[in-house]
Amino acid sequence: MEITPCLLDTENPLIVDGATLGSRIAATGREHLWEPRLRPREVNVIVIHSVSAGALSPAEPFDRRWILKIFCDYGVSSHYLIERSGEIVRLVPEELKAWHAGGSIMPEPDNRQAVNEFSLGIELAASPASGFTAAQYGKLAELCVDIERRHGRHFTYVGHEDIAGHRAVSAGLRKDIKTDPGSAFGWQEFLECLDAGRKSGESGSGTAPARAETIIT
Ligand SMILES: [Zn+2]
Repeated sequence: MEITPCLLDTENPLIVDGATLGSRIAATGREHLWEPRLRPREVNVIVIHSVSAGALSPAEPFDRRWILKIFCDYGVSSHYLIERSGEIVRLVPEELKAWHAGGSIMPEPDNRQAVNEFSLGIELAASPASGFTAAQYGKLAELCVDIERRHGRHFTYVGHEDIAGHRAVSAGLRKDIKTDPGSAFGWQEFLECLDAGRKSGESGSGTAPARAETIIT
């Protein structure tokens, strides 16, 4: 699977609005938009987000550079961005903690808080009006199957809205309510693609995961 590297650190050379993303990160006093995980072996959740730069760049709301400028300016990050074309962009290494969930709590009966600690974040370039492309559903499922194979386990899938909505606010974990990926995201379509991907991996010759060896330490 092809993944384009674009790590959110001070070396990032992408230029937007006259400055590199790296220099924007450096201006915040950070070296990168991630931190170590406290318990790397416990990563078992994938949080699905949608993101648009429509407020900054109305003509090109899904332009990678403008979306990543938002991340740099606000000091937030996710592990991956999937563009409208289906191109997968790696922003943060999986073994490190990205800052995508904020104050958050898993749905019942899990109830774990601080979801960044044990999750991977995947951003889909989309707005409530645009919805999601077929390429995005396909590549999202492909990426998730690949992650599960490498980590040697099935993951739990939640939307940002499921962990950072009214319940998180009521619990005093955050002030604002997240609404992404929203009702335009076709959970059934995604989960069907995921299921098909898992099955083809299981039946394919020579592609079965060597589970004990692929768990990230
Ligand atoms: Zn989000």
